[in-house]
Amino acid sequence: MSLSERIASRIRTEGPISVADYMAEALLHPTYGYYTTRDPLGRAGDFITAPEISQMFGEVIGLALAQCWLDQGSPKPFTLAELGPGRGTLMADLLRATKQVPGFHDAMQIALLEASPTLRSRQAETLSGHTPLWLDTLEALSEQPLFLIANEFFDALPMRQFLRDGDGWREKSVGLQDGKLSFGLGAAAPQPALAHRLEDTRDDDLVELCEAAQPMVQTIAARIATHGGAALIVDYGDWRSLGDTLQALRAHAPSDPLKDPGSADLTTHVDFEALALAAKAAGCTHSRLTPQGVFLERLGITDRAQALAARLEGDSLQSLIVAHRRLTHPEEMGNLFKVLGIFPMQASPPPGLNA
Ligand code: SAH
Repeated sequence: MSLSERIASRIRTEGPISVADYMAEALLHPTYGYYTTRDPLGRAGDFITAPEISQMFGEVIGLALAQCWLDQGSPKPFTLAELGPGRGTLMADLLRATKQVPGFHDAMQIALLEASPTLRSRQAETLSGHTPLWLDTLEALSEQPLFLIANEFFDALPMRQFLRDGDGWREKSVGLQDGKLSFGLGAAAPQPALAHRLEDTRDDDLVELCEAAQPMVQTIAARIATHGGAALIVDYGDWRSLGDTLQALRAHAPSDPLKDPGSADLTTHVDFEALALAAKAAGCTHSRLTPQGVFLERLGITDRAQALAARLEGDSLQSLIVAHRRLTHPEEMGNLFKVLGIFPMQASPPPGLNA
């Protein structure tokens, strides 16, 4: 039975399911989920991410995290964590770039949060010279300073969607029409978690609520508030999202999110305000939301590109120039992707970010 048929049979017994439940089934079903069954990254896959575009991304982020660690007095031991590490490329680039930082590698314990067994083994291969610990939940993070990176992780978490109706909200759902998966709407009901969205929305506006992200950010921020550290969250999205941002990507092209679940990537834009509020609730402060291009430029990605360029020519030089542009240019990833830093109240913000 295909995943589509399994979801249809769940709907026949339970009734329509939320968009979040649909995303969870499509992405992480233990046998048929998109991430559980494959390595979706790279040119031959469905999408490509910043660390897969260029080694420079992980390198400058690694040096930024190491600088935070130095600025906070080089605590030992500390956790170096990544959420959703994909192929492990970012972590490998980060580790190579920080090898020269005195004491950093001796003090670090690498922790990876990864739901997909396929990608866990891929990460183990990429990081074969190291001994990472794979976590099932963030609660398992050690009680010690935490320096963390998450790139394109929060966009993959299940997201609920609501349509404004007076002072209430109708939840968007996935049900069946003529036997096929189709979107529907539930009855209007109050939603305390969306109280602040009554200020900036009108009837029929759609807002999104990522209930999975909040406890995760709170756990991370609680470690950082208590023991020190910093978290860098990189993703596409904005401060307070508005409108339907659910999208499916198959072979680098947009596709119907309800078509053949489990075979395409599903993402939504990240609502960074919600992450920032969760960080504050756990006793941390956060940076201004900063475009990825600005952040990478401040971290010196252009100097790094020039240093690499000096050793290249022909096609490889051309690909380096294209990669630098893709990561930083406002018309490519530079503006679409944003960076949020989370750090202790009394600490200075991570390099590249302003308080
Ligand atoms: N950060 C990588 C990969 C991004 S794809 C990169 O930039 O290339 C999203 C990653 O998050 C994948 O590794 C996926 O398996 C993982 N993931 C998605 N949902 C998850 C969840 N709920 N818990 C843990 N890992 C998850």
